[in-house]
Amino acid sequence: MTTNDSGDRGDRHGPRRPATIIVHAGRDPRANHGFVNPPVYRGSTVLFPTVAALKSYDQPYTYGRRGTPTVTALADAIRQLEGGDKTVLTASGLEAVTLSLLAFVESGDHILVTDSVYQPTRRFCDNMLQRLGVETTYYDPLAGADIARLIRPNTRVVFTESPGSQTFEMQDIPAIAQVTQQRGVWLVMDNTWATPLYFDALAHGVDVSVHAATKYIVGHADAMLGAVTANARAARHIERAKDALGLCPGSEETYLGLRGLRTLDVRLERHQAQALDIARWLEARPEVASVLHPGLPSHPQHTIWRRDFTGASGLFSIVLKPVSDAAVAAMLDGLELFGMGFSWGGYESLVIPFDARAYRTATTWAPAGPTLRFHIGLDHVDDLKADLAAGFDRLNATKA
Ligand SMILES: *Cc1c(COP(=O)(O)O)cnc(C)c1O
Repeated sequence: MTTNDSGDRGDRHGPRRPATIIVHAGRDPRANHGFVNPPVYRGSTVLFPTVAALKSYDQPYTYGRRGTPTVTALADAIRQLEGGDKTVLTASGLEAVTLSLLAFVESGDHILVTDSVYQPTRRFCDNMLQRLGVETTYYDPLAGADIARLIRPNTRVVFTESPGSQTFEMQDIPAIAQVTQQRGVWLVMDNTWATPLYFDALAHGVDVSVHAATKYIVGHADAMLGAVTANARAARHIERAKDALGLCPGSEETYLGLRGLRTLDVRLERHQAQALDIARWLEARPEVASVLHPGLPSHPQHTIWRRDFTGASGLFSIVLKPVSDAAVAAMLDGLELFGMGFSWGGYESLVIPFDARAYRTATTWAPAGPTLRFHIGLDHVDDLKADLAAGFDRLNATKA
């Protein structure tokens, strides 16, 4: 099993490993009377000492929306982890996604978006971008270098998400990056699943890496937050669009992101180990047709995951053998440790039924049976298995 121990980003950060960066980045105890953590700056107005300072904006902070020391602390920590030129924070992951698209497009442009994309991203493209005169073509997540065939003279962005957060196709990001770089197209990636620790997006040719920090960075299901990290070429576009749109994260949420980030490495290790353990256990269950987890050798793009990623987080899906809706409901309704609800990345275990057949347009998603998505939390793995085993008993009893 690979872990992020091999994710040494020493070329960009000196000898420091990501685990060390998350402990130290964005933190200066001496500037805060020795306290380990920075305070939460709440603020709109920032005062200037003189007319000259006010007219020249000549101070680090000028207005709450444009940043506070708390925002700088988290943004800088994420920027260091991602090896980026600039990180901006937003009030949600979806805001980070929409910013990363609005920064690059104008009326008459065309974008390519993976068919496996997070559904609200798809809705933004189909509704808002379409109204603004920007056309979206969805592409097969397995396209790789063949994406070149879909690029038009007015194509501005290729938007990837790898793996897809319901169906878990892995994309060949370096192959796509080679095409986008040759053709002068921006490559944006929703990198939420891997977090900045398990996929080094910018080093693999991505221009802009987007995170729903709501998930693993916050890590406790108690705040909404987004992060967009850009390389040097893209930074100016992201910053300008963020200012123009007036996006900014809340003070408390930003602090919760900073607090969550400090334990990201140890939490992910546990999420990773337990999710793989349960994925293997599910693979051996007679009720399960297939397990969609990129870290399993049975995953069709396992080699891409092994080549490019340094770990796996706690989210994956399964396809059940054909069974009635009532049997699936009997299994899920009685679970005691798994909650049912959207989002993921917190310490708690979750499960949802989903139907990806409904929204695909470029590819056909034809699972053998009902599909479930699991988030494996930090509960003891044996207790989670027992909860699921009891669920399969209810499923089988209902089926009969
Ligand atoms: C949750 C999620 C988002 C959106 O994040 P919010 O903070 O819920 O707005 C974007 N992309 C992916 C892959 C997600 O899972």
